[in-house]
Amino acid sequence: MTLRPTDSSALLVDGKLVPGSAGVFDILNPATEEVIGQAADANAADMDSAIEAARRAFDTTSWSRDHAFRARCLRQLRDALQGHIEELRDITIAEVGAPRFLTNGPQLEGPITDLDYFADLAESYSWEQDLGLASPMGIKTHRRVLKEAVGVVGAITPWNFPHQINFAKIGPALAAGNTVVLKPAPDTPWCAALVGKVVAEETDIPPGVLNIVTSSDHALGAQLTTDLRVDLVSFTGSTATGKAVMAAAAESLKKVFLELGGKSAFIVLDDADLNGACSIAAFTVCTHAGQGCAITTRLLVPREKYDEAVAATKNGLSGLAAADPNDGGTICGPLISAKQRDRVEGYLKLALEEGGTIESGGVRPADKEKGFFISPTLISGLTNDARVAQEEIFGPVLVILPHDGDDDAVRIANDSPYGLSGSVWGTDPERIERVVAGVRTGTLSVNGGVWYSADAPFGGYKQSGIGREMGVAGFEEYLETKLVAAPAQ
Ligand code: NAD
Repeated sequence: MTLRPTDSSALLVDGKLVPGSAGVFDILNPATEEVIGQAADANAADMDSAIEAARRAFDTTSWSRDHAFRARCLRQLRDALQGHIEELRDITIAEVGAPRFLTNGPQLEGPITDLDYFADLAESYSWEQDLGLASPMGIKTHRRVLKEAVGVVGAITPWNFPHQINFAKIGPALAAGNTVVLKPAPDTPWCAALVGKVVAEETDIPPGVLNIVTSSDHALGAQLTTDLRVDLVSFTGSTATGKAVMAAAAESLKKVFLELGGKSAFIVLDDADLNGACSIAAFTVCTHAGQGCAITTRLLVPREKYDEAVAATKNGLSGLAAADPNDGGTICGPLISAKQRDRVEGYLKLALEEGGTIESGGVRPADKEKGFFISPTLISGLTNDARVAQEEIFGPVLVILPHDGDDDAVRIANDSPYGLSGSVWGTDPERIERVVAGVRTGTLSVNGGVWYSADAPFGGYKQSGIGREMGVAGFEEYLETKLVAAPAQ
């Protein structure tokens, strides 16, 4: 089988590839603005069928209890996807606008390899723990704790790292024994639909265990949050939508697991290599045009070195022009859509209104007639209470802010509704450790350490989310705990 986009216009419902009842919707290449094809457009009835299939597969098959079979299916899926890696790469670049170099890592190959980790967990996890004997109320009792799948998982995902986020949900949810209905973002349906095709045609994953419902309609995500047959909603997306998901899920008291937005700080201490740190900050904010929840978008530098830091960061950005994502050397590709570019441009206008200075970028690149590109941008001259320093922009836009020492840097980093990620640069280990202890985020990089890997839990404090994805913690989000007590013999 060759994976071609035209083959992918199907939903995966109950093991079958079926058309969407609402027809199809167009997919744009964000680097060229060309319509590159169509995806199946599901309606509420299609979503209903997918939920029903997932419910039945969970309630009436041995999927949730057969740990070895699930591990085998996940490895089979990994192998099948790896057999299509170049087709998937081309489609990912065309649909997501993801720079080619990122498809060697978190935009494609990393998440597929990570399925191994979750397959291993299905086999090695301690599904039963012996609590031993106790005599509550005088009755000698033997207690066991069983870990069991939660049930039907509604997985709702965004467009920015579609494979990474889809597999960070599918992998642990299936490994833990759940069945899944995945609803990907309308901007990137193919990345999910192609997985559906591989699942249907090249794996033994039983019908109903994984359902993939592409749609142009956000309301289908909302349907997953209210349907009584869904036990858990695993959501990644904006904080605003996350709040709506949690509120809707409250009606049926579903478990919710939320991975949301961020406005992370890149802290440069006064003993750090300022030039080196500023050029890494520039590189980071350009990666995938800044469309990453954990990308550091506030650069905090010592006040006395502010001008020097502005110059060093501008210098770093000047070598990182927005460019064709197909080119292996591109770091900063396009934004996903005209709507997202409008949003970013709105914030650039706001930065000026707030009294900031656009030191570099801030425009559509002159050499690009088509594509939703924005030149990498540095904003100076503002304080942390500016809206562009508080709100998530989701573009290649860095706000540079002065700090008055380590404690002040921590204070500014924490002065945010978000708490997802961050970065600390310095040379004194004791000072770095004090900053690490002070910053209230779920992830921190020290001097460029990389936190992304299958076994590393990822998630947010504050309004960046609830729960953890990846690692054992991410696997356990998909488990229930059952205590069994029986009279001791
Ligand atoms: P979004 O919140 O607009 O949409 C995310 C998903 O939710 C989409 O599939 C959408 O169709 C669906 N949806 C929309 N309304 C819904 C509703 N009422 N109920 C249920 N589902 C609904 O986010 P986006 O624009 O696709 O993605 C960008 C956002 O995602 C950014 O805020 C980014 O920070 C965040 N994000 C977070 C993480 C993380 O791990 N913390 C990772 C990637 C992206």
